[in-house]
Amino acid sequence: DLAVSRGEVRFEHVDFGYESNRQILRDVSFTISPGGTVAVVGGSGSGKSTLARLLFRFYEVGSGRILIDGADIREVSLHSLRAALGIVPQDTILFNDTVAYNIAYGRPGASLAEVIDAAKAAHVHDFISALPNQYDTEVGERGVMLSGGEKQRIAIARAILKNPPILVFDEATSALDTRSERAIQDELDRLAKTRTTLIIAHRLSTVVDADEVLVLEHGRVVERGSHDHL
Ligand code: ATP
Ligand code: MG
Repeated sequence: DLAVSRGEVRFEHVDFGYESNRQILRDVSFTISPGGTVAVVGGSGSGKSTLARLLFRFYEVGSGRILIDGADIREVSLHSLRAALGIVPQDTILFNDTVAYNIAYGRPGASLAEVIDAAKAAHVHDFISALPNQYDTEVGERGVMLSGGEKQRIAIARAILKNPPILVFDEATSALDTRSERAIQDELDRLAKTRTTLIIAHRLSTVVDADEVLVLEHGRVVERGSHDHL
């Protein structure tokens, strides 16, 4: 099992293609130091979300390695790997269950009070309180009863409640209006400060606090450096 102590994430010369005849990532290397933040920016289709999918081992790397605290993620149990990781995905798909179940998904056994605290931090508590059955409201198949922004805030609440040592934000506020985005960005910044974070963003302006920013183009790192430098 993976026992994350420091939370260092390292991609070493990662190559990957969903299909054997089409490379999506080419020789991608970076290290997120324990508690640090690395941001990846790049155009649509450049391979940003693919990096997150590989870290969660939804797919295996073609060549190269991904290490957490020095352990190759292929050599640890999937359960322990995913227990160490949290994600606010680009498109949140919810389970056909209640709001409370969906928020507590990464922390089964969490109390309602803990669920509510996380929802408040994600600025979604007022919305949930106005639903017909509040936290017991069913969200429908894949969360069809909710808007994209509502689902995204539930995903943020889930990540807050899970409180994993390593977090991935994949365009974590892309579905939010400017006002909600500003309110939630502070909470995300606070989360990022205290743990290892990979931020995927389309705009350089949202990643000012990153230790290093990688610019991805057609699956290759074409530029890297501090935010100010880029
Ligand atoms: P965006 O900014 O639009 O989210 P992205 O940088 O996150 O883009 P990825 O989702 O990583 O891009 O996709 C990279 C490439 O891989 C794209 O060309 C995409 O079409 C392709 N791709 C993604 N998922 C699959 C899949 N399951 N099977 C085959 N190709 C895929
Ligand atoms: Mg993406």
